[in-house]
Amino acid sequence: MAEQHVVDAATTSSSYNLSGEQVWEGALGLLQKEIPAPSFNSIISPLWLVSLDEETCTVGVINSFLKDIVEARYLESISTAISKTLGRESIKTVLTVSSPPQIVEEVAAREPLKEEKREIFPPKNNQPIPCKKYTFENFVVGDSNKFAYSAALMVAEFPGQTYNPLFIYGGTGLGKTHLLYAIQDYAQTITPNIRVKYIQTSRFIDDFIATLTFKRDKEAFDRKYIDNKIVLFDDVQALSGTDATQAKFFDIFNLLHASESHIVLSSDRPPAEIPQLSDRIRSRFEGGLMIDIKPPDLETRLAILRKKADYEGVDIPDDALIYIASKVQDNIRTLEGFFHRVTAYAGLYSTKIDLNMVQSVLKDQLNESPGSKSPSVETIQNIVSGYYQISPSELTGKSRSRNLVQARQISMYLCRELTDETLMAIGLHFGGRDHSTVLHSCKKVESMIKQKSDIYRQVAELTNMINRSL
Ligand code: ADP
Ligand code: MG
Repeated sequence: MAEQHVVDAATTSSSYNLSGEQVWEGALGLLQKEIPAPSFNSIISPLWLVSLDEETCTVGVINSFLKDIVEARYLESISTAISKTLGRESIKTVLTVSSPPQIVEEVAAREPLKEEKREIFPPKNNQPIPCKKYTFENFVVGDSNKFAYSAALMVAEFPGQTYNPLFIYGGTGLGKTHLLYAIQDYAQTITPNIRVKYIQTSRFIDDFIATLTFKRDKEAFDRKYIDNKIVLFDDVQALSGTDATQAKFFDIFNLLHASESHIVLSSDRPPAEIPQLSDRIRSRFEGGLMIDIKPPDLETRLAILRKKADYEGVDIPDDALIYIASKVQDNIRTLEGFFHRVTAYAGLYSTKIDLNMVQSVLKDQLNESPGSKSPSVETIQNIVSGYYQISPSELTGKSRSRNLVQARQISMYLCRELTDETLMAIGLHFGGRDHSTVLHSCKKVESMIKQKSDIYRQVAELTNMINRSL
């Protein structure tokens, strides 16, 4: 745990002459020992002391949503921490909503958290988390996504307790899948044996249809979903118009809800706009907490790029980052794609990254940002097979001939970069390959584009062709 300035409770018992600031710092030090880091950082540390008198301590909070959470979960701990710091029996704490100017920046610019905790509690008996970059620590919080972030955190920490189901909706590339995986990762970190299931809703549908078609064990199907404390259904807009599946989904939803398992749903639109969704499912979705994620403002986009640069250890001056951030408004995946293009180019030609270089590398792409649409895996496969003049079945097949393997790896990489699909789903589109194979391919291509100019050029051309096809 990070070092924090702590006013020792023993030495404060006789000192009533601590300043408000010292009292608050002391209380925070105690709270930090008790509350897990992501919750502490996002919920407790943005609070501030408004006033303190003999009986009452008034604490400020930025909005009523967070106020509810603090009231329900942390008020007692805060009171105890303040009382201990003051060396007093008990002091009453009340919350008041107002807006201090510096809060949003602080949250957005937060330092990455220490990793120690993860080593103490490795996740057990659970699905592998396909990508460790999808964590709360790596999620940059800004005005556009802070409610979704806080609500996701609450689910991970107190599954089944409030806001069940949680329905997160928003355009493509805005961080929904990231948050869902972060819930899984964090819940497994703080509660080692908790069972958490992440599922792409389209896979749920395929799985159900396969169960019916091949007369598989229906109970086993149900159990896969029901025996979990948290179930994360990604992209539930896929339920649109699938009647039998909707009925099954409804049953499973109700069973989970009745057993106080937490259900989290993501969608690219609100429930009312999902076509042919049954009324009963819609009203279930609307019966919990619905939160939208909006496109990030410039500051948040910049913070995301800074964090990426830090994470990958690349040196990019601020003006160059601002240039990239100003060019992509409504899709963080595209923003990251631009960033990767720049770092790949720098690696390939061993050049320093500066504003001029960034402007010239991104020149061709700036008018081709795909906005809020993303291509399908099929589109990518078709374009890649056309480009390398091979057939789609060769692309997804088993042949290990060198040119086919390379085309296959490049298409998996492009699917990863340009679509919403998970590694597992991409693997299924490539002849049922495992998610680790997909991950390996992506890593391979990432390193090839930094070393070989022809691969760099091919990936750039393919990306442009795919974006132009939208
Ligand atoms: P969605 O599921 O909404 O389409 P994703 O969760 O797949 O979007 O996000 C697209 C990419 O953008 C991912 O690589 C994700 O890590 C990144 N991303 C999205 N939001 C944030 C954020 N707030 N901070 C950091 N990275 C983000
Ligand atoms: Mg997604």
